[in-house]
This record gives sequence, structure tokens and C-alpha cells, in this order.
Amino acid sequence: MIGGTGQPMNLQRVALASVMLVFLGLLNFTNAQENPNFDEVSIRVLPVRDNIYMLVGLGGNITVQVGENGVLVVDTQFAPLSEKIKATINDLAQSTSRYIIINTHVHLDHVGGNEALAQWAREHTGTAPQIIAHENVLVRVTAPPDENIPETQISPTAWPNAPYLTGFKDLYFNGEPIEILHQPEAHTDGDSMVFFRSSDVVSTGDIFTPGNYPVIDIARGGSVQGIINALNRLLRITVVEAFQEGGTKVIPGHGRLCEEADVVEYRNMITIIRDRVQNLINRGMSLQEVKNTRPTLDYDTEYGSDTGFWTTDMFIEAVYRSLSE
Ligand SMILES: [Zn+2]
Repeated sequence: MIGGTGQPMNLQRVALASVMLVFLGLLNFTNAQENPNFDEVSIRVLPVRDNIYMLVGLGGNITVQVGENGVLVVDTQFAPLSEKIKATINDLAQSTSRYIIINTHVHLDHVGGNEALAQWAREHTGTAPQIIAHENVLVRVTAPPDENIPETQISPTAWPNAPYLTGFKDLYFNGEPIEILHQPEAHTDGDSMVFFRSSDVVSTGDIFTPGNYPVIDIARGGSVQGIINALNRLLRITVVEAFQEGGTKVIPGHGRLCEEADVVEYRNMITIIRDRVQNLINRGMSLQEVKNTRPTLDYDTEYGSDTGFWTTDMFIEAVYRSLSE
């Protein structure tokens, strides 16, 4: 289970590379693998449990819950994939009388399809869908562009129109209670986990990305401690069936479908690296001195990367900066 098969890992690398493209506007890659052709991407459907499905394409994983009330979607991937995503959801839907979109956070590989899906919902129902996210997602998408941080501006029809301001929001849809739980200062300052209580499935957003070090978007309020806190909260929700397997299904922001043991390993990894870097900071080391000690060395084969959107070097720097503030 650990490390997954070659294909999802590879998919994740492609996904991360494509995030880099969108974030940084770097259009001159020569490496074909890092220059995604959205036409060649297909949307794969993984039945998770009951009426819940995980959709894998390029960008963040999508969670779809269907039933007699309509369609609920957690995250929407990249805008160019919207037609394929709509067709896939259409095949799964039992009713299209109502649509709800939940965004786990602001990055464009998770909210990029909002606009097209919202338009599609209006065509089916005559009204705009509810788009739910933490208030900080709305603050970020409506903020003026800042040349120092990658773009997250999206069309007003794609903005969250049902933001929640407190620590959580709940709703009942398709016969199931659903909890939306804000995770402060984690991957960003507007992260939500979505817990489907009857199905026992959690969609985590990018606080959990098995196979890769977590992206800590410090410019948007992320922190290493916030990610650890969020993973510990996730572990209070998850329950194993037996022998550390089965039980609650965990749909990560990127990567393969997981269970509690995968989250435990990931939480332990980040906690250990946090403690190592904190210890080096306490001894007065500069960022470069900390990097020179290779504080992630024994984890790099599983989680590290020397190239792409989020390198090991960038992860160490983010941990250092978030512990130094
Ligand atoms: Zn993200």
C-alpha cells in the first residue's frame, strides 16, 4: 500500500508539474511530461463507498456524492478539464435537480472548474449552485492580484457564494449528514476537510498528499504546525476496521485513496521533520545550515523531489520559515 503503484505516483507528479505551470505561467517547458496536454487527460472514476466516487484526472482529486437530492462535488480541478468532468458526473448522477460545490481551498487545480460546473448547474436547474468554502477562500479569490504570489483570481460566477465563517458548517444532502471542517493555517488559511458521516469517507484537500511532502503555502497563511494539527484532527475522525486496515476511507488532495494507517505515517513524518528543524533553529542555525544537515534525508525517497513545482528544498524552507515566524 505504501508508495502506491507506479501509475498514480506518476500521475501525481504530472499533476504537480501542471500546478506549477498554472501558478507560475511558465509556458516554455521543454520536458513533455511537465507540459500537460489536457486533451490527453481522461477522467477516471473510482467507486469509494455507497454513493461516493473519487474522480482522478489532472490536478486535485474530485469527490462526487450523488443521490435523489442531486449532485455534490468537492473540488473541480482545472478549467480545461471541465467538459470531461461534466460528462463523467452526468453518467454517475441519479438526479440533477440540485448542485452543491465545496472547495477545500483556493488553488486553481481545485477551483478551476467552478465556473464551468456552475454554468452547467444553472442550465439544469435555472439557479446558481451553492458554492461552499471557508471565508478565507473568498477573500483570496477576490483580492487584487499580487505579483509576489501565484494567481488565484477566478470569475465572479465561480466565487464561493455560501462561505462559512466559523470553524465548521454542516448540511444534509442525499440522505447523509456532511460536515465541513475548517483547518486553520494549514496548507493555506482557508482549508476545509469534508466528512461524509454515513458513508464514513473524508475528503481532505491538500493537507494530506501521500507520496509528496505537503505544500505549505506560507504566502496564503499556511504553516507546518497547522498541517500537523489538521492531520491530528483527521485522525480523530478516522477509525480502522482491523489490523490497521479498512474502516474510514480518506480521499487525499492528490494521490491514491487511503486509510487511517496512511495518515498516521504521514503525520508522523511531518512531526519528526518539524522537531528536527525546530531543534536546529534552537541551536541558532541559518536556513542554509539547516538545509546542509539534510533533515529530511531518510524520507526523501518516498516524499522528496529535486524538480517540479514543490521540491524537497522548498519544503524544508517552508518548514523553517513557518517555525521561525
Ligand atoms: Zn493546493
